[in-house]
Amino acid sequence: MVQIVKKILTQTNSPSFESYLRYANKVYDLDIKINKSKRVRRITLRVCQFSGELRLTVPSLIRVGAFSNFIEQHLDWINLQKAKIIKQIQIAEGIKIPIFGLERIILSESECWEDYSLTSEKLTVPTPIFQAKHKINFKDQIKNVLIQLSNEFFNDVCQRDSAKLGVSFSKISYKDPKSRWGSCSSERKLMFSWRLIMAPREVSAYVAAHEVAHLVHMNHSKSFWETVRFLCPDYMSHRVWLRYNGKMLHRFIF
Ligand SMILES: [Zn+2]
Repeated sequence: MVQIVKKILTQTNSPSFESYLRYANKVYDLDIKINKSKRVRRITLRVCQFSGELRLTVPSLIRVGAFSNFIEQHLDWINLQKAKIIKQIQIAEGIKIPIFGLERIILSESECWEDYSLTSEKLTVPTPIFQAKHKINFKDQIKNVLIQLSNEFFNDVCQRDSAKLGVSFSKISYKDPKSRWGSCSSERKLMFSWRLIMAPREVSAYVAAHEVAHLVHMNHSKSFWETVRFLCPDYMSHRVWLRYNGKMLHRFIF
């Protein structure tokens, strides 16, 4: 038994597996990353919607033949996913980012004396040399403004909505989670993704209403959704917006 396992292991780690991987990456223009796992029995394939990287989780004892068959059978699907890739954008001077759903050019100017200046066309921050003592880079300056705008927006909406429900929250924090837009803890702490400030106001207001409604119902029951509707009557359209456009808010690299 030990010998057989060893033999398969030797086969698995043979160069042919790695050379097939190199071959497939080159011939099919792929970027496959392999994760071998002793716990899985099937091959799972995920495509990163931003980078196009293919992440394959495979059983640690997989044969090269099974692996190559899998890749070749799924090429159409892989290419379809690659066509849907969202181009990532590095935050830099002169590019446009949406704020409250409206695209604005981001710039730094030496004549900007405030922390920032926001108009319907542009967001301006002071050039780093005019910052007090600590030097801060442009990306961080923009991110800090987005967090500041988020704080003003969510504070107002959460105060208003919680007052409507006769409840209170203890504090609000801002983070950059990959898979959620907000949360509400049993200690009545609210958390929001600061990236929401790039979405239309109504969409962010829905996320605020959703988390405030959790101060009353710590679940997603029918009563919970009735409370969300009470605070935000059009909430369904905003959920749909987030489902289809939310990933676009993650394409900016700070
Ligand atoms: Zn929820």
